[in-house]
Amino acid sequence: MANIDRDRLTQLAAREQERFRRDHPRSAALFRRGQRSLLAGVPMIWMTRWAGSFPIFVDRADGAHFVDVDGHEYVDLCLGDTGAMTGHTPPAAIEAVLGQMRRGVTLMLPTEDAVWVGEELARRFGLPHWQFTLSATDANRFAIRLCRHVTQRPRILVYNGCYHGTVDETVISLDDGRVVPRRGSLGPPVDPAVTTRVVEWNDVPALEDALGKGDVACVLAEPVMTNVGIVHPEPGYHDEVRRLTRDAGTLLVIDETHTICAGPGGYTRAHHLEPDLLTIGKPIGSGVPSGALGCTREVTERILASLVVRDSDVGGIGGTLAGNALSLAAMRATLAEVLTEEAYGRMIPLGERLEQGVRSVIEAHGVHWHVQRLGCRVEYRFRPDPPRNGSEAAASEDPELDELIHLYCLNRGVLLTPFHNMALISPATTEADVDRHTEGLGEAVSELLAG
Ligand code: PMP
Repeated sequence: MANIDRDRLTQLAAREQERFRRDHPRSAALFRRGQRSLLAGVPMIWMTRWAGSFPIFVDRADGAHFVDVDGHEYVDLCLGDTGAMTGHTPPAAIEAVLGQMRRGVTLMLPTEDAVWVGEELARRFGLPHWQFTLSATDANRFAIRLCRHVTQRPRILVYNGCYHGTVDETVISLDDGRVVPRRGSLGPPVDPAVTTRVVEWNDVPALEDALGKGDVACVLAEPVMTNVGIVHPEPGYHDEVRRLTRDAGTLLVIDETHTICAGPGGYTRAHHLEPDLLTIGKPIGSGVPSGALGCTREVTERILASLVVRDSDVGGIGGTLAGNALSLAAMRATLAEVLTEEAYGRMIPLGERLEQGVRSVIEAHGVHWHVQRLGCRVEYRFRPDPPRNGSEAAASEDPELDELIHLYCLNRGVLLTPFHNMALISPATTEADVDRHTEGLGEAVSELLAG
């Protein structure tokens, strides 16, 4: 097995940074100009965290590609971290959105599309009743509120290393068994130990113990962790989660925002999970801000039995623009014509091709890495075996190596998802796009090991 020489890594990183600066004068100028009107020079501070000393500014995107303001074309394997898993500007969604723009964007009244989308989500995920939001974050926030309301319990439970959006109760980590604000958590409203229990993924006794306290309204979980790299459940883990939550009177909320990459009904449908509530956002409106949350018949009955409809506009679940006509037109077009059964039939084999490409690079060079896949999502990590949980995944992070691989690929026209080595396939992605990444990665590893 080959080891990475850290001096060689530093040298290559400096060379690639130099190339990046030379190739992107217009992005650099826009970043400098942005410093005068935008906090940190960007629309969101985290956009400064891309590999490269400034973010590239985008001119236009189409399908699985985009072009930056310096005229470089890229294969987009980030796809807006799943927000554009549909591919950029899919024609069916564009037509529906433009048509709806002309017929009215937001009215505080339902359209027929809402009923169609509710029916389609019920068909895909098996949960009969739906509400709409503008983001996955909001879907999770509202799901948590509803669970607290119907169970009359104060706490929620999430997994160490999770990410469910900017939901206060979930911006946490485990520090020596204690629940603490996650590193970098900005202005937590209360000590998260008050609101949240946290356990490691795949640890059945820890979950049993935490639920045994009898104060947990819901478990909020991705069915496969995807925000610390991909961490699969061990065989039988989901059965245990469902058994323990039912025994404890705790509701189970499955967040399918990323795991919709597993198939048209997400991981839930593919693996016959039985959540009480399900949340989703990001790609279901082809990038038009959209989110949804679904409930079982039993949860719906409990909500309706305990809700005062007169106060439902100010009860903490809302959003004037939520359920607007534009989002629903985008969701309908996406579900009817973009993220279809047939599209997954092309995307998943391309995911397999990407996984195989990365594996061939790992094997050819004998590096201590591994690659994992969930449907059309592929992720590689700098450790030999898949981690079992969030702590193990975090322990294998190598920020310098990560940055070099991202920058090396970017300089050769391939965009990976920031903060980890995730690559996603859209219906518009081609074999040539996938192979361009494999070649870039192969060159990067050859250069790292040379010398
Ligand atoms: N759930 C999961 C699993 C996510 O990964 C994310 C974002 N990465 C969210 C929810 C929140 O999505 P958004 O920021 O679009 O609200």
